[in-house]
Amino acid sequence: MSSSPSPKKASKLKTEDQLGPVSEHYEFGGPPGALFVTLTVPLFSYLLFYGCSPELGCSPTLPLRDPKLLWATLKYGVLDSFKDLDAWLIYFGWYAFTVLAWAILPGKWERGSELRIGGRLEYKINAFATMLASLAITAGLIVVKGPQGFTFLYDHWAGLVTASIANSVIQAVYCYAVSFQEGKLLALGGNSGNVLYDWFIGRELNPRIGSFDIKTFNELRPGLILWILLDISCACHQYISLNGRLTDSMWLVCAFHTWYVLDALYNESAIFTQMDITTDGFGFMLSVGDLTWVPFVYSLQARYLAFKPVDLGVAGTIGILAVNAIGYYIFRDANGEKNDFRNGSNPKKLKYMTTSTGRKLLTSGWWGRSRHPNYLGDWIMAWAWSLPTGFETPIPYFYVLFFAILLVHRQMRDDEACQKKYGKDWDRYCKLVRSRIIPGIY
Ligand code: NDP
Repeated sequence: MSSSPSPKKASKLKTEDQLGPVSEHYEFGGPPGALFVTLTVPLFSYLLFYGCSPELGCSPTLPLRDPKLLWATLKYGVLDSFKDLDAWLIYFGWYAFTVLAWAILPGKWERGSELRIGGRLEYKINAFATMLASLAITAGLIVVKGPQGFTFLYDHWAGLVTASIANSVIQAVYCYAVSFQEGKLLALGGNSGNVLYDWFIGRELNPRIGSFDIKTFNELRPGLILWILLDISCACHQYISLNGRLTDSMWLVCAFHTWYVLDALYNESAIFTQMDITTDGFGFMLSVGDLTWVPFVYSLQARYLAFKPVDLGVAGTIGILAVNAIGYYIFRDANGEKNDFRNGSNPKKLKYMTTSTGRKLLTSGWWGRSRHPNYLGDWIMAWAWSLPTGFETPIPYFYVLFFAILLVHRQMRDDEACQKKYGKDWDRYCKLVRSRIIPGIY
């Protein structure tokens, strides 16, 4: 285990000002913005379920054409979902399984990024093993009980959404409450003094129970893996309703999503340098994002195909595979260039500039074409995940739109943070590399 100081030990040497200075400004539009996101994320999680369903169809004009029907379905559906005891048991059973897997599956301990008070935390690396164990159990269930043995996630969808929202609220409240204990290292942006805002944005930087790190755990395991299990459950539903057949579109969506999650979990330690881990506290924004939004909204295409099968044919399949391959290549190559560089190697001999902080910034390769080339690759993949659903309705393309907004907002937050970190050197970099995400366009 760690030889470096834990924040608690280090905190004895630090003043309250260093551990939790009062935040200088609001993000996300301050408390009104926090309230807006707090209400709209759960609302949209339900709306995309009830407003895109075998019963009501999947039309973006439904809220205008038949608002009463939609709101009644939503209201009674959500109320009923609270009473779905099976869903609560499945969801919290699943969550407990992922915690147990973290505790008992083997994994080496790795040190995270340097904390601003000095020292590094240690993290157990076994998210990939948890994913493999989950897939093995799922495969076992399907082999033994048949596809009908794994449709229970699809069947209890709304109840699972409700249970996950409850889990997100509980965790955000718990983390907010314990952040007032003495010696806690707070996120620089999470200590405004406004209760709603701080609860939403996350007050404590790295809430932990012993060596169990709540933030990284939730970012990578229960939500991301559940997303893939939901996809598989949708595929099982489709297989049964098509009398023993899966469409090429369903294969593509499940394969793309699974590959993306396996890739993220295989490169688990890459998360330590991400903004969510280094800068953001753990509040409702991250808990509901990780535990509800990712699994239940990112699987929208698979759920749509479960009740609206689409056959692409060979040309369509090859075309979409090509779109995903291009996106993945940019995403992986750009992230690889930066990770190699930040880990002290530069195999492609890329050009770079040295900032007055001593840290260097790449100025050629992908990072010479735009300031967030990895976001571009990620967004191209988002298209490849939605195209298999065809063109009957734009609803399964919700992810493409939402993800564009998320990435542009993230780019603005990161550019602002880099401007603070590197000052005039960042301005120099921006003059050299003018595009923010899409070279020559944005
Ligand atoms: P990045 O991986 O883009 O990292 C940004 C950091 O990189 C900066 O803060 C800076 O940190 C460093 N950097 C910036 N420019 C340079 C340069 N020229 N040379 C070297 N280092 C540079 O950000 P994220 O953490 O936002 O994203 C990581 C990945 O996760 C992305 O691929 C993104 O698409 C993906 N993602 C996916 C989401 C999803 O829901 N599917 C959500 C969010 C992200 P420093 O200088 O301090 O090292």
